[in-house]
Amino acid sequence: MRLEGGHVTSITLAADEQVRITSIEGPQVVDVWAFNAEDVSEYLSTEHTRSCLEKLMPSAGDILYSNRRRPILTLTEDTSPGIHDLLLSACDSVRYQLLGHTGPHRNCADNLREALAALGHRIKSVPSPFNVFENVHIGPGGSLKIEPPLVRAGDQVTLRAEMNAHVVFSACPMDLALTNGPDGKLRPVEISLL
Ligand SMILES: [Zn+2]
Repeated sequence: MRLEGGHVTSITLAADEQVRITSIEGPQVVDVWAFNAEDVSEYLSTEHTRSCLEKLMPSAGDILYSNRRRPILTLTEDTSPGIHDLLLSACDSVRYQLLGHTGPHRNCADNLREALAALGHRIKSVPSPFNVFENVHIGPGGSLKIEPPLVRAGDQVTLRAEMNAHVVFSACPMDLALTNGPDGKLRPVEISLL
């Protein structure tokens, strides 16, 4: 299915099923969450994944872990330049206010709540997402800077479920930082069940 920039969708995978994210037009970050379909209090945890992998970003073949340190997804294939983010939180309404925006703005945190509500779930707090294609540069002294994504049209990331899982994809609506490129343009992505 085609997911428009700024919007959200979810797919429920049985263990061993795979889903692919394809960039259609180039730079567009996709925030990804995964929840155990039998118990959504277990979810993909970026901090547990960093600890278990001893890495700041996963590459093809790496497992993504849950908050119970169990495999929940595996990054099975990555044809992009391999730059993704496991550090930053999802954008939310306050983030846009802090960037000077007034009034409502679509955001990844609300996108997640919307997708989970459609599945009949409510969560108290928003887990940090796996930010596919997000380019966060780590500078001297540990400084962090969001740079334009390096993903090119046609690049693909494939994820395999390691348990029955609800996987949520938010094509990040950020147009006030370099997250989706200097033009701040939101672009569609393709989400496909293999
Ligand atoms: Zn976002």
